Amino acid sequence: MAFQLPALGYDYNALEPHIDARTMEIHHRKHHQGYVDKANAALEAYPEWLEKSPCEILTNINQVPEAVRTAVQNNVGGVCNHSFFWTILSPSGGGTPTGNLSEAINTTFGSFENFQAEFKKASLGQFGSGWAWLVMKDGVLSIIATANQDSVLTLGYKRILGIDVWEHAYYLNYQNRRPDYVDAFWNIVDWNKCEEYFQKGGI
Ligand code: MN
Repeated sequence: MAFQLPALGYDYNALEPHIDARTMEIHHRKHHQGYVDKANAALEAYPEWLEKSPCEILTNINQVPEAVRTAVQNNVGGVCNHSFFWTILSPSGGGTPTGNLSEAINTTFGSFENFQAEFKKASLGQFGSGWAWLVMKDGVLSIIATANQDSVLTLGYKRILGIDVWEHAYYLNYQNRRPDYVDAFWNIVDWNKCEEYFQKGGI
């Protein structure tokens, strides 16, 4: 088994105008594919690790052979982060969370608007490349940011929602305007999928 590029559940132009088709195509076909290729290359000499899922590898990163640990952190991390990211986006997304996740967000952050403000703050506060996340640990929701392709799984968290704030995720359409990209992101969040992940305690 080797890592593979997953198909998207929608067309490259389906998230317009919030994320443009060209950005989606390069992001998926070039960047995500690049992480897949480099992850496979990094673990080529360690077939027992290639048999594990990206999530399992990142949860146990300290057991990965030291010679390839950084390459694995970056590239298996890239595979795992992007494969998750595509699933929480949808052309029919947007609106507000529903069900139990909505309740948990209100309880934890006071309101959906406060949650959005804190999530945006984490997204903009991540200096350089990285991600902002809504995560769970021991049944508790929190917002964290991670650098590069570091995985929240390595930190013991499970994922509910995440935003890629690398420039490659938004630069063609938004240039330096990361805040506008984060604002637009809310229009394409698939809250049904986030609710599904919340029911599982995160993934
Ligand atoms: Mn990316």
